[in-house]
Amino acid sequence: MNELPIIGQGKPCGECSLCCKLLGVQELQKPPGKWCDHFEAGAGCSIYAHRPEECVNFLCTWKGAPFLSDDLRPDKSGVILFTTPEMDRHKIMQMHVDPKRPDAWNATKEIRTLLSVLLTQGFQISLTIGTEKRVLTSKTVESVKALIEAGIDVV
Ligand code: SF4
Ligand code: SF4
Repeated sequence: MNELPIIGQGKPCGECSLCCKLLGVQELQKPPGKWCDHFEAGAGCSIYAHRPEECVNFLCTWKGAPFLSDDLRPDKSGVILFTTPEMDRHKIMQMHVDPKRPDAWNATKEIRTLLSVLLTQGFQISLTIGTEKRVLTSKTVESVKALIEAGIDVV
C-alpha cells in the first residue's frame, strides 16, 4: 500500500484524502474539485515519495489543531479548513466544501461553533463549494443572513 497522502506535521490524516480532491495543485496543473490523477482509492498517493512540495507542505487546520475532534476530520465533516501565514496575517480562512455535500459547511453544531469562534476572532471565511464562492464575515449582510439561517450567533 502506498502511503496515504500528506504527512507533514500534526495529527495523522488517517483515511482522509479530501485535499487530493478538493484542492488544486499548481505543480501538477491539477484543478480543484477533481481527484488527483495520482490518487488511488484505498491505496493513497502513487507518487508519495516524489509528490510536489505543495502536497508535502500542506497542513489543513484540522490536522494542525489537536483540539479539533475526529468528527471534524475533513473526510468526515465534508469541509477542509486551511490558512497560510499570509492569509492568517489578513485574518482569512479558506473553507472548501465537498460539492457532494454542499450543506456540510454548516451541517453540524461542531462546525457552526467553529465558524462562530473564527468569526468572533475577526476571521473572514472564504467559502468554496464547487464553482460557488462566498465570503462569510460577521459584518456583511449576506453573511449575517447566511449565519442566522445556519443558526449561528452573529457577533
Ligand atoms: S484534508 Fe487534511 S486531514 Fe485530510 S488528507 Fe488533507 S491534510 Fe490530511
Ligand atoms: S500528488 Fe499525491 S498527495 Fe498530491 S494531490 Fe496528488 S495524490 Fe494527493
